[in-house]
Amino acid sequence: MGNFNEHYEAGKSAAIIAAVAGLVITLNGGGDIGEGVIVAAGVGTVVLGTSLLPDIDHQASKPREAAGRFGVVSVVAGILGLVLFAPEIVDQLGLIVSTFGINGAPSSLGLGVLLIGGIVLLASGGEMFDSLTTHRGFTHSLPFVGLIGVIAVLVTWHLSSYGGILAVFAGQNGVLVGIAAVIGVLVHLGVDSK
Ligand SMILES: [Zn+2]
Repeated sequence: MGNFNEHYEAGKSAAIIAAVAGLVITLNGGGDIGEGVIVAAGVGTVVLGTSLLPDIDHQASKPREAAGRFGVVSVVAGILGLVLFAPEIVDQLGLIVSTFGINGAPSSLGLGVLLIGGIVLLASGGEMFDSLTTHRGFTHSLPFVGLIGVIAVLVTWHLSSYGGILAVFAGQNGVLVGIAAVIGVLVHLGVDSK
């Protein structure tokens, strides 16, 4: 199991490699050097950040009851917040679902995914919080890797809609950030498995 410094050093090395890869991919895809540098910086930062992320469960030593209550509130607030303040993320979730051949308006499909996800989260909450509060539990699992990857893509696409420098991360470059997040968490798991 790695300590913070081991994770930081491994994350830093992976971030540099990922940044160079991000630059090369962007230039190959016809982007200019400015776009390449922004993508490289974004990808590198995300790899470093997510390589440290799984150990957030170190701090989760509160009693289960309090954690459970916090969990319920954050699941409900999270769904409400997305619907109210970031409806385009709900739409994008719906679009992902519709690629699996399910028909319907993106916004209702997305809301359906959120509601089902929320119910599953609440129903399995007790066990999940037990594993969340144990180091190398949920945040050290492959489902967490996938979850972080999807969240990273959706958040990046959302941020890109604000325009400016962030506009670079629309479309395919947003997916690169998602891949960077997956790589970061995997680097963390790799260090822990030694
Ligand atoms: Zn760890």
